[in-house]
Amino acid sequence: MRALLVSTYDLGRQPFGLASPAAWLRRAGVEVDCADTSRQPLDDSRIRAASMIAFYLPMHTATRMAAPLIDRVRRVNPAARLCAYGLYAPLNAGWLRERGIHDVLGPEAEEELVALAADLTRSAPQGATPNSQNIPRLTFIQPDRQGLASPDRYASLQMPDGSLRVMGSTDATRGCKHLCRHCPIVPVYQGQFRVVPVDIVIDDIRVQVAAGARHISFGDPDFLNGPTHALRIAERFAREFPGVTYDATIKIEHLLDHAEMLSVLRDTGCLFITSAVESIDDDVLVQLRKGHTRADFAWAVALCRQSGIRLTPTFIPFTPWTTLEGYVEMLDALDELDLVEDVAPIQLAIRLLVTAESPLLELPDIAAVVQPFDPTSLTWPWRHSDSRVDALHEAVMRIVRDAGNAPRAEVFDAISVVARESLGQASAPRAQRDGSAGPRVTEPWYCCAEPMEQF
Ligand code: SF4
Repeated sequence: MRALLVSTYDLGRQPFGLASPAAWLRRAGVEVDCADTSRQPLDDSRIRAASMIAFYLPMHTATRMAAPLIDRVRRVNPAARLCAYGLYAPLNAGWLRERGIHDVLGPEAEEELVALAADLTRSAPQGATPNSQNIPRLTFIQPDRQGLASPDRYASLQMPDGSLRVMGSTDATRGCKHLCRHCPIVPVYQGQFRVVPVDIVIDDIRVQVAAGARHISFGDPDFLNGPTHALRIAERFAREFPGVTYDATIKIEHLLDHAEMLSVLRDTGCLFITSAVESIDDDVLVQLRKGHTRADFAWAVALCRQSGIRLTPTFIPFTPWTTLEGYVEMLDALDELDLVEDVAPIQLAIRLLVTAESPLLELPDIAAVVQPFDPTSLTWPWRHSDSRVDALHEAVMRIVRDAGNAPRAEVFDAISVVARESLGQASAPRAQRDGSAGPRVTEPWYCCAEPMEQF
């Protein structure tokens, strides 16, 4: 029995979502071939050799990229049992089945993949639907990264002096205990999260450090969903991997609630924290159920700065509630908070993504602007009621695309010019601030929204 696990894209990281099922399947005696098509070509002979082919779909982009590959796999090996798993599989179950996927599994899929591999005639499980209350509680085992491209083939950490550090990644938890309305994790995990045991996390990091990683990016949706677990991980990390650094994603609310942990994170090697701020408009933050305010964001910036950890906020600046004035206000706020160097330019162009099963659809403001579900983009496309906002979005997107690797401050200023022009305002020079560059990942990530053109 040979299984082929396929990942199309995982934010420039070596996919945990291949390494973990690979370990489970190999332990069960299955021969496993892992193909990360973002880094390695997949030739037909590998497709033909597999009896079971499973697509890992952790995010929207990966799902869209999988579509032509699923068609190709069906042509090349029509007899193979086809599965899809990961966060976006249950969200797009109908679409996947129409494309010929037999089994749609959720993000906690390891055990079910092993069961399918053991019995390819087994009927497709129906439990992993978006409204399932039955997220399995797996007994995690150490991921097996054999066969994946080496860490230096993935996104790196760029230090302020321009030098690059090989980056690895792992997950200390999966899922999230929060219920933000725009987040694709919510319809699947519904406020639940799962903890990966400390020893397994540390062993997984050890393998990557041995392969050359000098920085680890924790891929948890929120590193402080389990603060005690996070503390244990951070302390073990520092003891076992001196000189290796890390980053994590932590929501603003948790940064304030666990402010005392920031110095521990810093002392254990945390270089920066990514936080999904999304908006500086308190009304929008309420609609998104983010659990923080603009003032909380400013306070979190101050706390991180005091602790010597960079805060790299992410945003969804273009929503149906965005106004031109509000967009300019956001730029001014980022400047005043001296965050221009900490915000990847793409974050200034993100447009709210309304995915299948999104709780956003329950909001009258969203229901009023969405068009019918588009099976090509896998979203509910929407237009802003003020066409000038959509025009600004397109202009900002163009600037970001054309900018390539231009300095962030330059891109920010160009965006500021078009945003002010849209209001008929002259551009104002920014005040001189510290503005030093911080460490950053060479492939800037974004969650819960994507910089795609919908029309
Ligand atoms: S946006 Fe972040 S905090 Fe909110 S539910 Fe998603 S992962 Fe959790």
